[in-house]
Amino acid sequence: MTEKQSAQHVWEAALGELQLQVNKSNYHTWLKGTTGLNSQDGQFIIGVPNTFVAEYLDRNQRSLIEKVLTDLTQQEMRVQFQIHDSPAKTLVRPDNRIKPVSPHQARMPLFNPKYTFDSFVVGNGNQLAFAAAHGIAENPGHSYNPLFIHAGPGLGKTHLLQSIGNLAQAHDMKVIYVSAEQYTNELMTALREKKMEDFRGKYRNADMLLVDDIQFFSGKEQTGESFFHTFNELHNSSRQIAVTSDQRPKDIPSLPERLRSRLEWGLVTDIQPPDFKTRLAILQNKADEKGIDVSVDILEVIALQVQQNIRALEGALNRVIAYAKLIKTGLTPELVNQALRDVAANEEKKTVTPLLIIEAVVNSFQLTPTDLKSRKKDEATVLARQVAMYLIRQETDCSLDEVGKELGGRSPATVSYSYQKIATSLNDCPSLQRKVFDIQQRLYTVSAPAGR
Ligand code: ADP
Ligand code: MG
Repeated sequence: MTEKQSAQHVWEAALGELQLQVNKSNYHTWLKGTTGLNSQDGQFIIGVPNTFVAEYLDRNQRSLIEKVLTDLTQQEMRVQFQIHDSPAKTLVRPDNRIKPVSPHQARMPLFNPKYTFDSFVVGNGNQLAFAAAHGIAENPGHSYNPLFIHAGPGLGKTHLLQSIGNLAQAHDMKVIYVSAEQYTNELMTALREKKMEDFRGKYRNADMLLVDDIQFFSGKEQTGESFFHTFNELHNSSRQIAVTSDQRPKDIPSLPERLRSRLEWGLVTDIQPPDFKTRLAILQNKADEKGIDVSVDILEVIALQVQQNIRALEGALNRVIAYAKLIKTGLTPELVNQALRDVAANEEKKTVTPLLIIEAVVNSFQLTPTDLKSRKKDEATVLARQVAMYLIRQETDCSLDEVGKELGGRSPATVSYSYQKIATSLNDCPSLQRKVFDIQQRLYTVSAPAGR
């Protein structure tokens, strides 16, 4: 037996022991898929898939692992973690699944470029979900299938799901991302127009399927059943599925039982509200992203006030930034408190609504809401409409479908295309950037009357 084989042998025994000592999701996330690379002179080298796992194990499980290895080998063992891409885990993709991307798809990237793993701040409440999401994006179909992420509103479910999509798409995978609502609408349209073959074909051909807010299937038996079959087809051929929900599978009411049990097959993990340190790091990140310098004591005041929802946390930061521009004297913690007075109380409520966004956009472009919802195709109206779609997506929880409805019944594909177009233009066009930023600021300085 070579040193390498024997290291692997020992490591497999150690994994058997570790599996008994740590909880199941912990084992699946951090230990499963690691390898024994080498063992020499009391040094044991463990191969791990990425730096994140290396850091986690090093910080949290080093002593346990060393104890297990020492017991097994009857020799004092020190461990080292090394990034190692195990050949068994690399993606195998049969040729018949590689389909050329249609020009339509090429024109319409599905993912928000803002939502990447890089821009996701990892803290206590979300590190498991982050690692699992990252793991399946790097190694689809081989670790946890499906991945099920549940959390309350504004805690990063969509951000993580989109990050998976962004990364997998960069690896040339054919990824389908839909909200459960959008899936339902597509299914209904396919049934009505007798286009079920197309519908099935679309989903059957995906390398990866990401479904956001799956609690929407609750009580919708036909959709649940349809999704059960889609799920099976993909799962049977090891294609990766990831879903998010505001509840764990067992708590989603009226979901077909066999779908529920499938959803529990892989890894079910949650995201907890961020602790103070994480909230502060998120605020720092968002301020950096906007290229705005906000002092730490100001960020601390915001982080103290808004605790349960990261979308609200960002909203509070935007509000403070807008405030700072208005009063030119510079911010003090007292002024921040004033700017945030009703944010904290309204934390769970959305303060910005599609209606407010449409109002702000038409004011800025000197148009009317009717123009925006009409079929008018002149350059100014089209741009304003696209900006409105972009902002509604950005600032509210609305699905593509809902955004389309708010703007005179545009299709989800149009909304997605518009979103992407504005997101790209913002990078190249400072005047548009200024305009959109001004609208955003106005949204957060004019406080929304309750119930709108
Ligand atoms: P959910 O889908 O759970 O309602 P989102 O994914 O839409 O929440 O997140 C709401 C906002 O908070 C988004 O702008 C997202 O980028 C941001 N966000 C959430 N979690 C994090 C995080 N850990 N790091 C950075 N930004 C985050
Ligand atoms: Mg979401």
